Order: sequence, then C-alpha cells, then structure tokens
Amino acid sequence: MSPTDQGNRSAPARPDPLPLPVVDNHAHLDIRRDDDLASDGLDLAAHVERLVKDARAVGVDRIVQIGCDIESAELTAELVDVHPALLGGVALHPNEAPLHAERGDLDEAFAVIERLVEHPRIRVVGETGLDYYRTEPEGRGAQQDSFRRHIDLAKRTGKVLQIHDRDAHDDVLRILAEEGAPAKTVMHCFSGDMAMARECVERGYYLSFAGTVTFKSARELRNALSVVPPSQLLVETDTPYLTPTPYRGGVNAPMLVALTVRTMADVLTMSVADLCRTISATSEDVYGPW
Ligand SMILES: [Zn+2]
Repeated sequence: MSPTDQGNRSAPARPDPLPLPVVDNHAHLDIRRDDDLASDGLDLAAHVERLVKDARAVGVDRIVQIGCDIESAELTAELVDVHPALLGGVALHPNEAPLHAERGDLDEAFAVIERLVEHPRIRVVGETGLDYYRTEPEGRGAQQDSFRRHIDLAKRTGKVLQIHDRDAHDDVLRILAEEGAPAKTVMHCFSGDMAMARECVERGYYLSFAGTVTFKSARELRNALSVVPPSQLLVETDTPYLTPTPYRGGVNAPMLVALTVRTMADVLTMSVADLCRTISATSEDVYGPW
C-alpha cells in the first residue's frame, strides 16, 4: 500500500533523520488507536518504549507527554520518571471538565491535577482551554471556569500553560487577557489565521504547529506560520492524532515531527538544521532542561 494524502492506514515508515535534534512539544503516548497496527500486541510500556525509540532514531529526542484526564495525568507522572526523554503536562481537558461538572466531582478531579503538577518533571498545566466544536453551549460555562482555574494554577506553580483552542479563538484570547496569561503560554496545535498569529506573537505567547500545517488545504495556516518569529515557534505531533502528510488520517507518532519540521522550514525559508536548533533552544527555554 502506498501512502496517500487521505486516510492512509499503513504504518508510517521512519522519516529521514533530522540534521539536529528537535522536541515534540505535545503528544499523548498513552492514547492507543484501534488502527495502530505497529503497536498491535504490545502492552502500554512497550508501546511507549517503541514510540520513544523510533523518535530518537530520527532526532526527536525529547517529548512533552500530555495527560488530560485523571487516569492519563496519573500515568504521565509515572512515565516521566521512567523515560528521561519525557517531560509531562497534566490538566482536565476542555471536553473533560464539563463532564466532571455535570457529575459534581470537578473540585475533586481538579485537586488531583493540583497534586500531580507538583512533580518536578511535570512542567506543564495543559492542555486546557476551550473547545466549542465538541462541547455543546450548555457545557461552555463549566469549560470556561475550568480554563480560568487552570490559568491560575499555572501562575501559582510557575508552570507552562498549554492551550487547546478549537473553534473558540475569540474567547480563548479574551479569557487569557482577563485572567492575565502565565509567563510561558503555548498555543498548542495553533489553528488561527495570520491576524490571530500576530496577536499571539505580540502578547508573547509561543505558537506550536502540528501536522495540520502540512495539509494541502492549509494555506491559511502556513500564512499564519510565516508571521511567527522563530524565537516563538514550537512543533508538535499531538500523537496519535493530526498525522502529517503523506500519512494524514493514519496513526501519528513523535518521529513524524520530522515531516512537519521540514514543511515548516520550507514555509519559513530556513534550513532544517537552523529550524531544529531554534525550536530545540526555545523548547528548553519554555520547559526547562530535560
Ligand atoms: Zn492534545
């Protein structure tokens, strides 16, 4: 089966190694997909081991692992102890918070996140933010409250804030301005246009681009990328989702950040080596040393 731009189901091959190491700024190594043939039969520990090893082989030697429900957040705190390549982030995802609110256990769930974020290798509060695509209008009040609490938590603990923003650009920017953003704020999987990119740059946020920037249809996103100074740029996979071309629709893995970085270097008319060097340095500025 040869890879195509749409719905490719074969396991992606290892991309050509990058000339210099780079960081995958956002991945969910613990989320398994049914169509993940390469990890078929592996237990979770072996699956994570495989992803970390494949990534290292192509130069993606550091990964930020994100756990954004209680189970995954607890697992993230364990994984960062086992793998020197991993730092972690924990939060209640914007689609998770309204469910807790409905069940009446939001305070309890948030207390678990508050405890886990104290871990020295958990450097991120995230992903938090707003998702108006998945959460119905009734749930949005709870979602916004949860977002505000996570902003406050990041500021209190001096951790990095990673923002999830799906179809909610205006409210995300408004709430960040109202609360006052933490010193280090990352727009994970940036999905806005050029004007929004400029606004985020001006506010001093970091913009993390995912595999979506490689999609043929994503001209507007590439235009947005072109106005971001390299010093505020990050790259990520959002593994196992948002798989870059030519594996769009298939299972993502941190090694595929190599494909996204190459597209970004093209857009920015930078060498791949320069972009890797810059993103690597920026990632360590943001999260601290691995
Ligand atoms: Zn994510």
